[in-house]
Amino acid sequence: MSDVIKLLPDHVANQIAAGEVVQRPASVVKELLENSIDAGATQIQLVVRDAGKTLVQVIDNGNGMSSTDLRMSFERHATSKISSADDLFNLHTKGFRGEALASVAAVAQVSVKSKREEDDLGSELEIEGSKVLRQEPVVTSKGTMVSVRNLFYNIPARRKFLKSDQVELRNITDEFHRVAMVHPDVSMSFTHNDTPLFTLQPGNHRQRIVAIMGAKTNEKLVPVEEETELMNIKGFIGKPEFARKTRGLQYFFVNGRFIKHNYLHHAVSSAFEGLLKDKANPSYFLYFEVPPDTVDINIHPTKTEVKFDDEHSLYAILRATVKHALGQFSVNSIDFNQEQQYDVPYDLAKRGIAAVPKIEVDPDFNPFQETSPKPGSGSRAKNFSSTNPQPWEALYTDLEPDTSRLTDETDRDGRTGELFDQQEGEQRHIFQLQRKFIISALQSGLLVINQQRAHERILYEKLLRQLTVQNGVSQQLLFPIKLNLPQEEVEILKHLQADLEHTGFLFKSLEHNVVEMEGLPLELKEKDVPQVIDAIVSNEQQQLPEQRYSSVDSLAQSIASGMSIKTGEQLSGEAMHHMVDELFACKEPTLTAAGKKIFIKLSGDQLNSKFD
Ligand code: ADP
Ligand code: MG
Repeated sequence: MSDVIKLLPDHVANQIAAGEVVQRPASVVKELLENSIDAGATQIQLVVRDAGKTLVQVIDNGNGMSSTDLRMSFERHATSKISSADDLFNLHTKGFRGEALASVAAVAQVSVKSKREEDDLGSELEIEGSKVLRQEPVVTSKGTMVSVRNLFYNIPARRKFLKSDQVELRNITDEFHRVAMVHPDVSMSFTHNDTPLFTLQPGNHRQRIVAIMGAKTNEKLVPVEEETELMNIKGFIGKPEFARKTRGLQYFFVNGRFIKHNYLHHAVSSAFEGLLKDKANPSYFLYFEVPPDTVDINIHPTKTEVKFDDEHSLYAILRATVKHALGQFSVNSIDFNQEQQYDVPYDLAKRGIAAVPKIEVDPDFNPFQETSPKPGSGSRAKNFSSTNPQPWEALYTDLEPDTSRLTDETDRDGRTGELFDQQEGEQRHIFQLQRKFIISALQSGLLVINQQRAHERILYEKLLRQLTVQNGVSQQLLFPIKLNLPQEEVEILKHLQADLEHTGFLFKSLEHNVVEMEGLPLELKEKDVPQVIDAIVSNEQQQLPEQRYSSVDSLAQSIASGMSIKTGEQLSGEAMHHMVDELFACKEPTLTAAGKKIFIKLSGDQLNSKFD
C-alpha cells in the first residue's frame, strides 16, 4: 500500500489557520483597528458595506509602512512588534503574532496603500487568497488604508455561515466600541453603507463613553478610581437606580484591551448587592492597569478571556473599590445637588470630594463567604450599606402584617370591620398583602393572587390580540417622549417598529441614539416607558439571533412584563376588583405566559387542617 500522508497545499493551510483569527467581518474590523492603534494613528476611519460582507475598510494616519514592510506584513508570523519570545511577556501593543493580515488575505480580496512620513511615494499592494496580484508605487498621504473585500469569497461554506446583516453589524459595532472606549484620544468614525453611525472626537474617557452610549449616560456615571500595587482601576460604574435588565453595558479593559471575566464581574455585582432592582444588571466601564507580566492575554488570537496571577486579591480590591464608589456617591447625593455634581467632568467633580480613604485589602478575603463590613474600610461605604442593607423587595416584607394600613383604607371606604366578617352574597372582600398579593375570600376558602403576574397575563392576552388583528389603540402624546439609547438598541426597536405600532406605540423617529415617541399603548403610563422599552430590548437580546425579530408572542410577553403593575405597588380596592375580574376573563387565568402560577386557592379544609 502506498503512503497516505500528504502535506496540505499552502493556500489550504493558510485558509485553515485563518479560520482561527477571522471568524466574521467583526474579526477583521478588530484586527485592522488594532493595527492602526499600534501604528500610532490619531485618526481612524472605519468604512463598512453590507455589514462587512462586501467591504471592511480602515484608513489611518499612523506610521505607515515602507514598500518592503508592506510586502512582508502579509507573511505569516511577520510582525514588527516582537523579536524574541521574552518580548511576549512585556507587551504594550495589541498584536504580536503577525498573523492577522496573512489570515485576512487568505480568505478575502485585500488591497493596502501605505506611506511613511519620510517617503515621497507610498506603495499599494493587492493580494487575493494569499496570492500577491500586484504591488506598485502610489501617491497617497501618510498612513495606511486597508480594504478587505468579499470576505470568504473563496470559501462559500464559510460565507454561508455568516449571520444576517443586523447580527454581523452588531458584532462590528461592538468591536468598534471596544476599541473606541480605550482610545478616547484617537478621533474615530464609523460609516455603514454611506450612513455615518459614529463620529467620535478626541476627549477623555467620560466624554468618549457618553459619545458612544448617548448623552443621557453622563448623569448616570459614578467615577471609580483606585491605585494599588497589584492593579490600578479607573473608570465608571452606573448609578444603581439606572440599572436595567439589558445586558451589554459591562466593560472591563485590561491594559487597553477589552476582556470578559466572570469572576471579576461577580466582584462588581456583589458590590452592588442590595442596591439593584429585580434582575437588573449593573453597568460598568472599568479600566484596569496591571503589570504586563502578571496577566496572560492573547494566547488565543481572538480570545477575550484572560488569566491574572492573583485573581483573589484583584477580586477583593475591585469589590471594595466599587463599594466605596457607591458609598461615596450616596453621601454626595445627600450633601450636594447630585445632578450638578456628576454632570461636571470627572476631574472637576473629584476636586469637590475630600481625600479618598485608602482601601485596605484583606489577604484572607474569601469572596464566596458572606462578608460583614470590614472595620476601617471607609466610613462612607459603611454608612451607605447600613442604611441600604436589604434587597429592594425586602423593603416591603417588614411591613407585614400591616393591619393599620388595612384599617386606614377600609375606614376611608366606610367598611371597617367588614373585612374579616364575611356575609354570603355580598360583594367579594378583597385586600392587598405585602403589596404583592391580592387576597380575596371565596365562598369555599381563600384566593391568593400574585398581583404582578395577574396583571402581566391580562396585558399579555390584550397585546397578543392587538398584535394579531393589528388594531392597537394609541394615546397621542401632547409632548413626544424622547429616549436616548445605545444605537444597537435603537436598531432592535427599528426592526420591531411595525409590530410595536400595532400595540399602540407611535414613533416619530428612530435615529442613531434617539427614540422619539408621539403615541403610546392605551394603558402605558409615560413614566413606565423607559422600563417597557428596556424590557422589549433586553428580551430581544436574550433570544438566539435566529429567533430575533420574529415572535409576536415574545414581544407581547416583554411589553406585558414591562407594563405590568409591580410587586411593591399599592392598589386601591377598586383596582383590585377590576384586576380580578379581568384575570378571570382571560383565556388562561392560571399561568403567566412564562408558565408561572398566578394564584393559589386555600380551601376551607386546608385552612381547617392548620388548626388541628
Ligand atoms: P501583528 O499586528 O500581530 O504584528 P499583523 O498581521 O496584524 O500582525 O500585522 C503585521 C505587521 O504589519 C505589523 O506588525 C505592522 O508592522 C504592520 N502593519 C499592519 N497594519 C499596519 C498599519 N495600519 N500601519 C502600519 N503598520 C501596519
Ligand atoms: Mg495586528
